[in-house]
Amino acid sequence: MKILLDAGHGPETPGKRSPDGRLREFSFNQAVAVSVARYLTFEGMSVTFSHRPERDVPLGNRISLANKTNVDAFVSIHANAYGTTWNDAKGIETFVYPTASKQSFALAKGIQQSMIIACNRVDRGVKTANFAVLRETRMPAVLVECGFMTNREEATLLMQKAYREQCAKAIAFAILSWKYRGKS
Ligand SMILES: [Zn+2]
Repeated sequence: MKILLDAGHGPETPGKRSPDGRLREFSFNQAVAVSVARYLTFEGMSVTFSHRPERDVPLGNRISLANKTNVDAFVSIHANAYGTTWNDAKGIETFVYPTASKQSFALAKGIQQSMIIACNRVDRGVKTANFAVLRETRMPAVLVECGFMTNREEATLLMQKAYREQCAKAIAFAILSWKYRGKS
């Protein structure tokens, strides 16, 4: 089975950071993606990244890579933001396209559940959204938001290696469970 891991945004993407500028979203996304890849590779899965550590890869390139390499699932990893100043919005949520396949919903549910158990954060649930990476990819595709950079408590967690590792384990576990359930 082939998985495409997508660390959202890039190292210099404007705006995608905590209000105090200490946390860049890409540094979190990428660290988690690298760790998920390690777990999946260990389990014999084939993993590709759609991002590059040194630059922001346009969405169109990420999508065409997924479609061209015909991966079995596309998993996009993000940290959330509500506005640009500190506030109380918090928790974890996972997105699929509104008319996504059953397989997409199953993968999203698995990732959401596993993240909530592993990270012990507020459960915002599985939601639908018209994001390009979900709409234009031709395989099961999900986007997970692992906590809010605009929440002081969660921004602190998002910077910690231990929290990143918890997220990575949870995402990898969910992908593996989805695979072994025969994607049903
Ligand atoms: Zn993002």
